[in-house]
Amino acid sequence: MSSAYDVDLFVIGGGSGGVRAARIASGYGAKVMLAEEYRVGGTCVIRGCVPKKLMVYAGRFADEFEDAAGFGWTVENARFDWSVLKQRRDAEVTRLEGIYDTNLIRAGVEIVPERAVIEDPHTIRLLGSNRTVRAERILIAVGAHPVKEPAVPGIELAITSNQVFELETLPERILVIGGGYIAVEFAGVFAALGSRTTLLHRGDRLLRGFDDEVRDALAEAYGRRMDLRLGRTLARIDRRDGGLCARLDDGAEIFCDQVLVATGRRPNVAGLGLHKVGIETDSIGAIPVDAYSQTPVPSIYAVGDVTNRANLTPVAIREGHAFADTVYGGKPSCVDHRLIPTAVFSTPEIGIVGHTEAAAREIYGKIDVYKSRFRPMKATLSGREERILMKVLVDCATDRVVGVHIFGHDAGEVIQAVGIAVTMGATKADFDRTIAVHPTAAEELVTMRVPEVTKHPVGVG
Ligand SMILES: Cc1cc2nc3c(=O)[nH]c(=O)nc-3n(C[C@H](O)[C@H](O)[C@H](O)COP(=O)(O)OP(=O)(O)OC[C@H]3O[C@@H](n4cnc5c(N)ncnc54)[C@H](O)[C@@H]3O)c2cc1C
Repeated sequence: MSSAYDVDLFVIGGGSGGVRAARIASGYGAKVMLAEEYRVGGTCVIRGCVPKKLMVYAGRFADEFEDAAGFGWTVENARFDWSVLKQRRDAEVTRLEGIYDTNLIRAGVEIVPERAVIEDPHTIRLLGSNRTVRAERILIAVGAHPVKEPAVPGIELAITSNQVFELETLPERILVIGGGYIAVEFAGVFAALGSRTTLLHRGDRLLRGFDDEVRDALAEAYGRRMDLRLGRTLARIDRRDGGLCARLDDGAEIFCDQVLVATGRRPNVAGLGLHKVGIETDSIGAIPVDAYSQTPVPSIYAVGDVTNRANLTPVAIREGHAFADTVYGGKPSCVDHRLIPTAVFSTPEIGIVGHTEAAAREIYGKIDVYKSRFRPMKATLSGREERILMKVLVDCATDRVVGVHIFGHDAGEVIQAVGIAVTMGATKADFDRTIAVHPTAAEELVTMRVPEVTKHPVGVG
């Protein structure tokens, strides 16, 4: 660092990507300062993945209590207390926040708890103390925020995922709007905890971008657990009878206590000063970067949700780490965004890695589809009406497994392990020679022998 700068690296944002980049860069010997305007840990720790997953766990006890009867248990007087969950969840989030803080400080990163904006390619202004800091490089890791859309009358009465974590009581009736994983997960949580839940999505299927059969399996399961309205849009929200009334485009009225909109997120770029350095964002506000997360301004980099590449915590972490390795560790690294195992914490869960059937067919031409749809063993005694779906997609030309899709309990846990094999380039023959673990549901992945259909698009083979 030349003496013209106060620090080597200034990181704006203490979430998944920023924290990782700051720690690793500091470990390489860089002098690092990190500004966080809200709480260190960012969306994932404070109001995303972590508190959400704790709520998912809470909801799943309802199924367990119900299912227990088929195994001889009598579970009496099971009651749920929202305030206990909220208090314990919030305490855990605070504990994790403390760990993030400590880890940064231990790594030698200076944390400034205020909003930072860009003045020029090497200058940051801290809005709380109104001082400026000169940095050789700037990393933008400011994340994204939920939007309140569609912009219909009364939408201001709705809450977003941020406010879910502030609710003091469990809503008796809730309308969740959206078809992405956040809407799907929260609708599942509220339904399980006992709220009368409606999930409204304008599309004909939930979870755009996922395999169609998985989407159908989810809709079938959710149809049993809640009031699922697909292909309908929200027209307005009004206060009515001490609660809310949501009117849909077909004239239907849904009476509820809360409306949760989970229809999208936008990068946190407003007021960040990007115009001062000539960085132009795309139509949703995402910052353009190259494979090394460098923006068109050479001293400024960006990672995580603000770049809208794949908006997931492990991806933001990888991007932050790769940035630090490249710039401060002498190890040029970029993140492969093509193969990202991921889960949706609906109940039952979804775990996927690789292509959907439709995409695989388009890319590879001939694919074999191995598919199994079966009743989980546990459901035989519990009597629960539930099916697991597993699909393994194989490129016929190379025998490589190019997609695995699981809809069923623990799909997130299973897909993490399957993701290793698929990332390594496993073939169907590799799956076949793997000995099954019995009795499990996941053993289906290595015992499917006959392709359900061989997909030959018109004109191929
Ligand atoms: C409800 C919900 C559930 C989710 N569940 C999952 C999941 O299960 N799995 C998964 O992988 N991902 C999940 N995600 C996505 C995940 O949280 C994000 O992809 C991840 O947090 C992105 O990390 P980031 O570093 O880009 O941004 P963030 O973690 O959002 O961090 C950005 C930080 O920058 C701060 N900031 C913004 N502007 C400034 C400024 N000007 N000055 C100072 N500080 C600033 C913000 O306060 C924030 O703390 C979920 C998201 C939500 C909303």
